[in-house]
Amino acid sequence: MDYHRPVTVSEALAVLARYGGEARLLAGGQDLVPLLNTGRLAPAAVVDLKALSHLAAITAGVALRVGALATHRDILTSAAVRTACPLLTEAAGLIGGGPQVRNRGTIGGSVAARNPAYDYAAPLLAVDAELWIAGPTGERRAAAEAFLGQAPSSEPAPMDLLLAISVQPIAPEAGWAYEKLRFSDGCYTIAAAAAVVAVDARGACASARLAVSGVEPAPARLRDVEEGLVGARLDDAVLAEAGTAVERRILRPISDALADGDYRRAMAGVVVQRALARAARRAGPHRGGAGTP
Ligand SMILES: Cc1cc2nc3c(=O)[nH]c(=O)nc-3n(C[C@H](O)[C@H](O)[C@H](O)COP(=O)(O)OP(=O)(O)OC[C@H]3O[C@@H](n4cnc5c(N)ncnc54)[C@H](O)[C@@H]3O)c2cc1C
Repeated sequence: MDYHRPVTVSEALAVLARYGGEARLLAGGQDLVPLLNTGRLAPAAVVDLKALSHLAAITAGVALRVGALATHRDILTSAAVRTACPLLTEAAGLIGGGPQVRNRGTIGGSVAARNPAYDYAAPLLAVDAELWIAGPTGERRAAAEAFLGQAPSSEPAPMDLLLAISVQPIAPEAGWAYEKLRFSDGCYTIAAAAAVVAVDARGACASARLAVSGVEPAPARLRDVEEGLVGARLDDAVLAEAGTAVERRILRPISDALADGDYRRAMAGVVVQRALARAARRAGPHRGGAGTP
């Protein structure tokens, strides 16, 4: 297996093109290296991105832009992320596997791997994130939902390089929450939900954005459930109804050694209720911030 360490994006793309789809990008290696070690993947070349350090930058402007090489720890400790999109901060804080995974694993690798159990997926869907991608025909933007919302079998051309993820800041009066059900720190998600909620002066839901992950082969934005919440007070009865609606729309739950499909479906309803309840508590004229439970 060949090893390359390009120092520019165009050099990385040229190396990928040379191998015609037989090369793999390497970011933090937390996903890729175990696959190489166990022989489940044997590419002709590995293209190490670590020299493209500018792709680790996190910048705040009209939109928050998180470079693909930003690590989970970079995201967790970034004031810009906490201010513009604390939902991502919350998700990064729940990534398990210990310091090695959090210090080396990157958001770009997490998105590109499209593992339904990974933690950024539901938050990125809930905030309508966009992906900035470089490929052989130039740079393009794509909705995160268009990429993450498909099961991993429909993998895009491997010569595409994710540069960054951009997110419009969550409105100051909106509340947010990411809820993850797992059995232990090292254990992957059983079911997770991200919610962003705004309430009006009467305390009714003015807007809701909701996504689930870990339950089906692809994470999903729940627009039909969102629509049903607008205008309602998010009391226990409305939340229970939303939970039931979520359960009904889960048709292909994952069954594996961690949990069977029926359990995952039921837990999807539970994490959605918890995320909505916590997001609603944080919503109001002054956003509660990370200290609000
Ligand atoms: C013990 C353990 C526990 C974990 N627990 C969690 C958890 O609780 N929650 C969670 O979300 N994740 C968890 N993870 C997964 C970890 O977060 C991911 O493996 C990591 O985010 C992937 O990022 P990476 O930089 O290591 O990617 P890599 O392993 O380097 O790459 C992953 C894939 O993405 C491709 N790729 C990488 N960068 C790019 C790019 N810029 N453009 C295009 N393609 C790219 C690679 O070619 C490869 O196919 C865990 C991992 C381990 C080992």
